[in-house]
Amino acid sequence: MFDSLQDRLGSILNGLTGRGALSEKDVNAALREVRRALLEADVALEVVRGFTDRVRDKAVGAELLKSIKPGQMVVKIVHDELVATLGETQEPIDLNAPAPVVLMMVGLQGSGKTTTSAKIAKRLTDRQRKKVLMASLDTRRPAAQEQLKVLGEQTGVTTLPIIAGQDPVAIASRAKEAGKLGGYDVVILDTAGRTHIDEPLMVEMAEIKARAAPHEILLVADSLTGQDAVNLARSFDERVGITGIVLTRVDGDGRGGAALSMRAVTGKPIKLIGTGEKMDALEDFHPARIADRILGMGDIVSLVERAAENIDAEKAAAMAKKMQSGKFDMNDLADQIRQMQKMGGMGGMLGMLPGIGKMKDQIAAAGLDDKLFKRQLAIISSMTAAERKNPGILKNSRKKRIASGSGTSAADINKLLKMHRQMADVMKAMGKGGKGGGMMGRMV
Ligand code: GDP
Ligand code: MG
Repeated sequence: MFDSLQDRLGSILNGLTGRGALSEKDVNAALREVRRALLEADVALEVVRGFTDRVRDKAVGAELLKSIKPGQMVVKIVHDELVATLGETQEPIDLNAPAPVVLMMVGLQGSGKTTTSAKIAKRLTDRQRKKVLMASLDTRRPAAQEQLKVLGEQTGVTTLPIIAGQDPVAIASRAKEAGKLGGYDVVILDTAGRTHIDEPLMVEMAEIKARAAPHEILLVADSLTGQDAVNLARSFDERVGITGIVLTRVDGDGRGGAALSMRAVTGKPIKLIGTGEKMDALEDFHPARIADRILGMGDIVSLVERAAENIDAEKAAAMAKKMQSGKFDMNDLADQIRQMQKMGGMGGMLGMLPGIGKMKDQIAAAGLDDKLFKRQLAIISSMTAAERKNPGILKNSRKKRIASGSGTSAADINKLLKMHRQMADVMKAMGKGGKGGGMMGRMV
């Protein structure tokens, strides 16, 4: 498989820690990798160009947080822009029209129109108590109408009786009429596709549209559609006028690029995704999940977000200076513990890194959790100011006093002192190396 984008950006940009802001040169280097990642994810070239231009505008000059590696900063900007492009909000199928509301499914052959028609019908029946009628307008493929009928029987949704020899436009009229007479809330028209876009297909779709006046025209597209996605979406939108997109086979190994391409080119929302062959394998579209898929990462973005929310950039800068001078006292340790606490503890932080979910339980078992942080902070706050500045003066009598003041034991205090010594050593070493970045900086 490919290296994930954050790994690549990491190696390009992590040398930059300590500078104030992302420069145009840094960003351009990062964007070369972003471009590659998007193309590997099958995003269409013309969409990639516009996208990277927008990211460049946002990233150049962006202030660097000491606690976040520059590579992650760029990943976050890329991720946010992906989500913005994909559409921030979840748009459901719009049934806000006089009954029967007609939904027309369009797309290439094999894209999943028939399957998706039945899935949507089932969803509207089960979840919204709608009375739904389905009709197959696919007179091209033998047994296509039969296929929808079988799915209707499986899901308990009525299908329009098949009359041999009728053309698609006539079937559309009959379906709408039956919808009216039968008191249906929704009529779903499953149309025929072609292996590729051609003129007769577009003409047929336009005629059906004119006759049935659908409220929604949903383009059903395979998530594995690569560079063709742009052409596909543009043609259907220009010639027929789509109102939304359903992306199928998201359960496969498609990398999600088609979603971005189609959305960027048409501006039409992706409303649903198909995640399997079964009738309940239909889900709402969540832009952030597709964005993650495109970037090929775990939940690293929320880690960066939390770090950005919780770590005060100035404090981190002051800490870096202290480390360079080799000084790290109990007050500093308390600051670091509080930062870890805010981030949900070690378990919370590590759990967000890809592939570390399992280690979380071990960490919890080892007691490296919020309880421990609280105990450690209680110990530090029971110290005098002099003790906090210079923990070397802590001998047995002082430890006893602190233990009783904080409700802990001498062993707890010794553990904390040991942790402080170890961290102070590391910080001193890092200080000598001239690199900044707090404890968080090394952990994320
Ligand atoms: P149509 O020609 O556009 O009507 O496509 P079909 O609905 O007949 O689907 C073609 C094939 O794709 C069928 O075998 C479906 O079971 C399968 N299919 C449709 N949607 C999905 C999906 O979301 N995931 C998977 N894995 N298969 C799907
Ligand atoms: Mg079909």
